[in-house]
Amino acid sequence: MDIKKIMVVGAGQMGSGIAQVAAQSGYDVVLNDISMEFVKKGYSNIEKILARNVSKGKISEEEKNSILSKIELADNLGPAKDCDLVIEAVVENMDIKAKVFSELDTITPEHCILATNTSSLPITQIGACTKRPDKVIGMHFMNPVPVMKLVEIINGLETSREVTETIIHVSEKMGKVPVECRDVPGFVSNRVLMVMINEAIWELYEGVATKEGIDNIMKLGMNHPMGPLALADLIGLDTVLAILNVLVEGYGDPKYRPCPLLKSYVAAGRLGRKTGKGFYDYK
Ligand code: NAD
Repeated sequence: MDIKKIMVVGAGQMGSGIAQVAAQSGYDVVLNDISMEFVKKGYSNIEKILARNVSKGKISEEEKNSILSKIELADNLGPAKDCDLVIEAVVENMDIKAKVFSELDTITPEHCILATNTSSLPITQIGACTKRPDKVIGMHFMNPVPVMKLVEIINGLETSREVTETIIHVSEKMGKVPVECRDVPGFVSNRVLMVMINEAIWELYEGVATKEGIDNIMKLGMNHPMGPLALADLIGLDTVLAILNVLVEGYGDPKYRPCPLLKSYVAAGRLGRKTGKGFYDYK
């Protein structure tokens, strides 16, 4: 299937990154969020990153302007009516995603593929919110999207092979490396990663070491580019907690239970980099 126009729903850190990479790869893009204020925030992040790339000599001023001109802004889902692919990147909450998908199902043309960037929620359940479960697929980008190579492709129970092949092709056109997996809670990536991050938070909670100590041990000892607590701050502590809750519920195994320290940070609004404070202070 030929994909020309892509809508990205949710203009947060992931959605804005996906919109940038899609526009850079030659697609026409619509960037959507619930209000123009949020859409413009996402768009200005893209502008900043592209301006930095110009100053580093990676792209020219003309290229920057041509990428930006490919991105249309929308505070409603209306423009999805002439899109070939929608990539949803709203908050990690099943009720909100279900509402977005059932609405998109009524607006988008019949051929349109509905992809979700969910970190952990069941693709099959999201597909069941639509009358086109064969065209619903997980397209899990990594953070930060313009930098990270992987796209985890998650096939729901009803996802058609043609749709999977199309999404593999789109991912490659975006310069990414797609890797397929089955639809299980947390998929491959977050089933492994979240256990490590949660364990690091338990260590901090128990006073095993300082936050810097835990992160340095994992960086220097395991050759990780960043420590698990700094990575949790980058992902967003609300997202980390939401994924752990999906894992607990999905497997019924207490090994995934979120550390109380994580819960209290989220309750206090300390969500990591996006709010300026998480395990570390970014202000
Ligand atoms: P974020 O909090 O930065 O952004 C979420 C955005 O969704 C916000 O701008 C919010 O206003 C918007 N939104 C909420 N409801 C909406 C609706 N009904 N319609 C349109 N927009 C809506 O979150 P994020 O980190 O960008 O995560 C988004 C998704 O990507 C989640 O499903 C998350 O699990 C997944 N994900 C996150 C990461 C990460 O490292 N943060 C990595 C891979 C995947």
